[in-house]
Amino acid sequence: MCRGEGELKLSIPQDLLDILICPACQGRVELKADGSALKCVECRRVYPVKNGIPAMVVEEATIEDEEPRQQTG
Ligand SMILES: [Zn+2]
Repeated sequence: MCRGEGELKLSIPQDLLDILICPACQGRVELKADGSALKCVECRRVYPVKNGIPAMVVEEATIEDEEPRQQTG
């Protein structure tokens, strides 16, 4: 008889964020709004957070393409 409630919300403490750097460019990383990933502010690589542990590995990272919306015409 176990209670299945009480979902633990995992988040990265600010202290940890302060020491984490992007392994690709040594830039600062910021936690995404939903806490699911860390994003480098320099090269825009996004590192996934697995079980509350950020995977600071270049091979795990995805690059978020943020192309500015432009209207041609
Ligand atoms: Zn970077």
